[in-house]
Amino acid sequence: MKKPIIFAVDDDPQVLRAITRDLRQRYRSDYRILSTNSPREALETLPELKSQGETIALFLTDQRMPEMIGVDFLEKAKNYFADAKRVLLTAYSDTDAAIKAINEVQLDYYLLKPWDPPTEKLYPILDDLLDDWQANFKPDFQGIKLVGYQYSPKSHTIKDFLSGNLIPYRWFDVESSDKASEMCEIKGINSAELPAIFFEDGSHLINPTPAQIAEKLGRSPSADHEIYDVVIIGAGPAGLAAAVYGGSEGLKTLLIEKRAPGGQAGTSSRIENYLGFPKGLSGSDLARRAITQATRFGVEFLSPQEVVNIESVDQYKKITMSDGSCVNAKAVVITTGVNYRMLESKGLSDFTGAGVYYGAAMTEAHAFKGKQVYIVGGGNSAGQAAMYLSTFAEKVHIVIRRDSLTSTMSAYLIDQINGTENIDLIPFTEIVEACGNGQLQKLVLQNNQEESTTDAVADGLFIFIGARPYTDWVGENVIKNGKGFIETGKELSKYDEFPKIWKLDRQPFLLETCSPGIFAAGDVRAGAMNRVASAVGEGAMSIKYVHEYLADSNL
Ligand SMILES: Cc1cc2nc3c(=O)[nH]c(=O)nc-3n(C[C@H](O)[C@H](O)[C@H](O)COP(=O)(O)OP(=O)(O)OC[C@H]3O[C@@H](n4cnc5c(N)ncnc54)[C@H](O)[C@@H]3O)c2cc1C
Repeated sequence: MKKPIIFAVDDDPQVLRAITRDLRQRYRSDYRILSTNSPREALETLPELKSQGETIALFLTDQRMPEMIGVDFLEKAKNYFADAKRVLLTAYSDTDAAIKAINEVQLDYYLLKPWDPPTEKLYPILDDLLDDWQANFKPDFQGIKLVGYQYSPKSHTIKDFLSGNLIPYRWFDVESSDKASEMCEIKGINSAELPAIFFEDGSHLINPTPAQIAEKLGRSPSADHEIYDVVIIGAGPAGLAAAVYGGSEGLKTLLIEKRAPGGQAGTSSRIENYLGFPKGLSGSDLARRAITQATRFGVEFLSPQEVVNIESVDQYKKITMSDGSCVNAKAVVITTGVNYRMLESKGLSDFTGAGVYYGAAMTEAHAFKGKQVYIVGGGNSAGQAAMYLSTFAEKVHIVIRRDSLTSTMSAYLIDQINGTENIDLIPFTEIVEACGNGQLQKLVLQNNQEESTTDAVADGLFIFIGARPYTDWVGENVIKNGKGFIETGKELSKYDEFPKIWKLDRQPFLLETCSPGIFAAGDVRAGAMNRVASAVGEGAMSIKYVHEYLADSNL
């Protein structure tokens, strides 16, 4: 942590030299001593110090200065560092003004000049004040600070990016935090321009994109090499496993991710059935461990970068990203998983990111302390989200169309939900409308058995109603099934177009698509098991087939 500051201001160079010397002698190991002969200059530096996350423990200023009297300086300085102790240096003739200032600027002490010897007349007083300051001082959060409106989709996107990429930050809601308004005021940021992100070095960005934040943090997404043995697209469990195996088996490996490592699993508060973790582990923990492991094996990681096209050029694959940049690879593994299906009810799209969220239970849960939260969906992901949100919300309501959870959710989760007092299940029901003023406030629920509707006060709605694959961008020579999942291996022979596309003497490898050297693994693959462990297994397997493909094609 940065050392707190003692700030001395005195227009008389001799006095300033003497006080600075005495302060340094006693306090320099624990405090930074700043001094200036100009109160105006001192005031100008305060906003900058504030925005750099510095703290001032004590101001010590002369009373009689031609630019500005000490009491006025302390009054103004209070606007930036209200908790700093305030000490006035006065001549005997100024004691009246000093006594008046005790009330006016809540002066903590006035010292008479000269203060010799400092061991008797200076240090005991300052020691006391600094002890008091230390006892009440709560250090400011030093990392990235994000300021915005709680119910703002833009703020949600940034939170999602930061938490997904395991970047520590603190969130400040401008409507409820004085600190947030103060930070904006110092930088002259209008509330209409929010969200804004403040970095440790004192700089800030207004309404930035994830790519701009990544660039600012030195995570600039561009590849180091022209050609890779294997490029893996999507850093969910399947992609991360493929990356770890590719890297550990000596392949020059690049992993590209458009959002954050972990994929769907990264949004899970607790994965309880992953082998080797008897107490379960969170998706973000799994992602963090896997990224560390992959990096140790020399895998390059490009994020946030979205792949928009793969083109086979001779035996190589040219991979194009949304910013227009390209990388080349000998083989590609597509592990782009699935995206949440959208709920189409009336009014819902108006509140996406402003009370309505898709799979964002982890990121937004804290905002729903003591509030009414609804979850749509009866699968395991909905169940996990309900358990997690129940630790914050006053009440969590799970809305399902069926009569019960038994056919869609694992028994262990149903038991947990039944044993949690503030979760209730609303069966035979659909959400038909969302209402609110800038943020979600009310849901209209329709009971399908009774054909009746009821209005429900709702602060948050979390939607988990299945998923569709991220494959719209995958070109025509890769066969997909009717729902867009990528077909691989022997299943391909069921398609009439397969013989027209596949021209090799051999059959496709188990996880190979109908485009040689392009593989698919995990949830994006037709027939996948939709589990973390199976995605990890397929990711690992895909690398075995990449080796066989490279050997077979003499690459
Ligand atoms: C909330 C929740 C809880 C779950 N809990 C469990 C559980 O307890 N146990 C269990 O076994 N399973 C669980 N699952 C299911 C499990 O998470 C998935 O089966 C698994 O994550 C699939 O992994 P994947 O790597 O195939 O795909 P995903 O996890 O979907 O990852 C795909 C990745 O590819 C990225 N991507 C997509 N398109 C592109 C592109 N064009 N360019 C670059 N990157 C792209 C995405 O951003 C994403 O990060 C849960 C799922 C959810 C949503």
